[in-house]
Order: sequence, then structure tokens, then C-alpha cells
Amino acid sequence: MLDLTRAMTFRRQANLIDGRWVGAAGAGTISVKNPASGEEIGTVPLAGKAETDAAIAAAHRAFPGWSALLASERAAKLFALADLIRTQAEALAELLTLEQGKPLAEAKGEVLGGAAYIQWFAEEAKRVYGDVIPSPFPARRILVTREPVGVVAAITPWNFPFSMLARKLGAALAAGCTIVAKPSELTPYSGLAWGVLAEKAGIPAGVVNIVTGDASAIGATMTDSALVRKVTFTGSTRVGKLLAEASARSMKRYSMELGGNAPFIVFDDADLDASVEGAMAAKYRNSGQTCICTNRFYVQNGVYDAFAAKLAEKVKALTVGPGFAAGTMQGPLINEAAITKVEALVHDATARGGKVLVGGKLHALGGNFYEPTLITRGTQKMRIAREEVFGPVSVLFPFETEEEAVEMANATEYGLASYFFTRDLARIFRVSAELKFGMVGINTGIITTEVAPFGGTKESGVGREGSKYGLDDYLDVKYLSIGGL
Ligand code: NAP
Repeated sequence: MLDLTRAMTFRRQANLIDGRWVGAAGAGTISVKNPASGEEIGTVPLAGKAETDAAIAAAHRAFPGWSALLASERAAKLFALADLIRTQAEALAELLTLEQGKPLAEAKGEVLGGAAYIQWFAEEAKRVYGDVIPSPFPARRILVTREPVGVVAAITPWNFPFSMLARKLGAALAAGCTIVAKPSELTPYSGLAWGVLAEKAGIPAGVVNIVTGDASAIGATMTDSALVRKVTFTGSTRVGKLLAEASARSMKRYSMELGGNAPFIVFDDADLDASVEGAMAAKYRNSGQTCICTNRFYVQNGVYDAFAAKLAEKVKALTVGPGFAAGTMQGPLINEAAITKVEALVHDATARGGKVLVGGKLHALGGNFYEPTLITRGTQKMRIAREEVFGPVSVLFPFETEEEAVEMANATEYGLASYFFTRDLARIFRVSAELKFGMVGINTGIITTEVAPFGGTKESGVGREGSKYGLDDYLDVKYLSIGGL
């Protein structure tokens, strides 16, 4: 019998506003379900404009105090937060698996990844440097300082409900900003857990506020508020565009981490075993539900059959089951809508000549479980060549020349992650330069780390999270011209 006692110590069925855990005024609630079983885990408030306004006002009141702390004092709070996450990693991972479905080991990896982002930004908090610019005028000095933008509004998705908020919250708090966050209604508890953690780490009331509920009402209140100076969003390109348009009305700053359609190119000269390992990591993690998951495999004709055979072996070996079951390598998809989308894209691919090598249908477990799938004979006419599948489905497209592969890889409105495998050094530099993506994995399928800038180009968004660039989006540049010296 599964013991969820420690996970439940982090489950809050309320919103955190100004240091108090509160329900929604209208007393409406949202039911939160376990995607592996369909059972209700609990409820969260169905908050809207009133609660969001209250949270923004609290963050606005808390801003002068928090931003006035010494950078080292803010850093100390963030170090405490990172330590707390690490000591509570098991409980937080269990809560994550319960509401999101991913295997427990992956959930723990996500939680520890969240701690790593907080630790990184705690360190960066002390390095918000300015500039001294040589003055072109006599008796004058020109200084550049960087100041926190103010109240930040953050909206996060369900696929990485813990770590997506870590990147935003860590950067915002390190810079001296206060925050109002809205997690996805599908996975609100891993978002609300940040409120529990912030309290335990001694972060003052009002600095971190978390609301759940009506996404469009909360989003509109955030973008309409004059007190919010920056919107940071991770999610679909459709919603990102809505929020960017609305933010522009009051000229707010925004950063957008949006959808992807990652290509993965395997050249004839690649180390085949390494490319298959990379393919598994870049495709099947989180049941294929990540924005940097490979969506399209382009495999050069000389190794096409060998790569397909090796990958098929690995895909067949994936054990599907509930995230808590021992040995599970792939959990359920998030909900029925996700299953419907995957089924439609697989049906389209097979109708257009795709050949199913592995999987291709709902898993015998039923519900939200889908078989890890591998399809060959891909063509650019298939919907999957253009649309983000967000499920455990690989399609292999053959190609002949490097130019052809790069052209097909770039034939998308997205520009988030891309991958390629080759042992030719000149090709590494040539192809890296030609790929129109914010991130390029070369001979590796794993690219996420807190020390590197995560983000995309084109319709995959604007801004970068993590790394030394990650604080820039939370800071305004101020220039001081000091005369009469
Ligand atoms: P989504 O539908 O855009 O939802 C993301 C968040 O936006 C959720 O919190 C959602 O709330 C909220 N939302 C929905 N409609 C809104 C509105 N009108 N105004 C304000 N907020 C609104 O995306 P998703 O399906 O959850 O997530 C998958 C997408 O995220 C994929 O496209 C994936 O590629 C992308 N993603 C990108 C990155 C990246 O770093 N680039 C990382 C992870 C995921 P509710 O859930 O409560 O409705």
C-alpha cells in the first residue's frame, strides 16, 4: 500500500496570498486528479480576478522591503530554500508523481533540478554588476546600475510543475522582485508546495504569492495590472501570444518559453549506439511530454535501417505503468485530451504511409496510458512533421544529404531545441551554425542544466532561463549621468 503521508504534508488546498493560506471568495474549487488512476487527489480554489488582485497588491507591498535587502541576505534565503528542497526531495517527488504521473525517479530528478536552479540564482544574486562608462564629457561620470523590475507574474504548465516555477521564482527573488505565480490547474500542488517551502525558508509574507483557478481571468488580471511589471510564461505558443499581446498594452516586459518541434538528425558517420541513447533521452522522458522532446527524427539513408532496429529494441524494452510502480520507465499521459491528440497524429502518420515498428495504440492498462511508439517511412506531409506530438511517439524520416536534413529540420515556425549526431568536426560547426534553434544538442540528448541559457527563437518564445543570462529578464538597466564633478 502506497504511503503518501509525507507527500501530503506539502499538499495545500488553498492559495497563498500575503502570507495567509486562503480559499477563493466564490468558494468554487477545482478537482485535481491522479492521471494514472483518474482518482481525485483533492481540490484547489477556483480563484479569479479578486484573489489575483489581492495577491498582486501583496507582492507590491512586499517589494520595497525585499528589494532593499542586501544581495547576500536574499541569497541566504535562497540557499535555505535550496537546502530545504533537497532534504524534502522524496516528499516533493511523491506529490509530483501523484498529480503529474511521471515515474518517481524522474520526479525526484525534477525536484533536485529545481533545487539546482534556486542554488544557482542564490549565487548569481551577488553578481548583479553594473558598468562604469568612460565619459565623453569633462567633469562627468557615467554609471550603469541594474534594478529589479518590480512585481513579476508567472504562469507555468503541467509537464514540469515543480522545476518550471523554480527557474522563474529563483531568478525573480534573486533579482529583488516579488512574485505572483499561477500553476496549471492539472498539477497545482507542486506549484503550491513552493509556498510551503518559501514559508519554511523564512521568506517574508507577500514576497511569494500563489493563486490557482480560472486561467484566463487570472492571466488577464495579471496583464491588465499596472503594478505587474513583468510577465513570465511557460506553455503553449497560442497562450503565449495572448499574454504577450495583452502585456504590450501596458508595455510590460515579458519572457515566453513556448512550444517546440525539435528535430534530431543522425548522420551516417554518427556513433549509432550513442545516438540511440540520445534518442531515448530526448524522446521518451516524461512520456514525450516535454517542450524539448524530439518531434522528428531525420536519419541518413546509410544508417536508417540499423538505427531503426536499434531504437526499436530500446523502445520495446520501456516498461509502462503508474509512476509509483517499481520498474516503471514511462507513466501515463496527462489526460484524455493528450491521448486523443496522440491517437490522431499516429492515425494520420499511418494513413500517409508510415509503418508502425513498435506500439501504435492505447496501452493495455487503458486510461491515459499509451504504448511507446516507433514509426518509420515518415514524410513531410504527415501532421507530425509540423505539430508538437507531446507523447511517446517517434517518427523516422529518411534523408540523403546534409543540406536536405538541415532544410527539413528548419522547416518549422518553432525554434526551441534541436539535436544532431555526427563524428565529423567540421560538420559539427557547420550544422550548429545553420540550425535555427535556441539550443543545439550535439552528440547528446540531454541539454537542460541550470548553468546554460534555456530558451528558443521564432515562435518558441523570447528570453532565457537559467545561466548568467537568466537574471537579465528580471532587471531594468538604469543609467546615471553625474555632472559637476
Ligand atoms: P498551456 O495550455 O499554454 O498552459 C500553460 C499554462 O497557461 C497553464 O498554467 C494554463 O492554465 C495557463 N493558461 C491557459 N490558458 C490561459 C490564458 N488564456 N491566460 C493565462 N494563462 C492561461 O500549455 P500546456 O498544454 O499546459 O503545456 C504544454 C505546452 O507548454 C507545450 O506547447 C510545451 O512545448 C510548452 N512548454 C514549453 C516549455 C519551454 O520552456 N519552452 C517548457 C514546458 C512546456 P491551466 O492549465 O490551469 O488551464
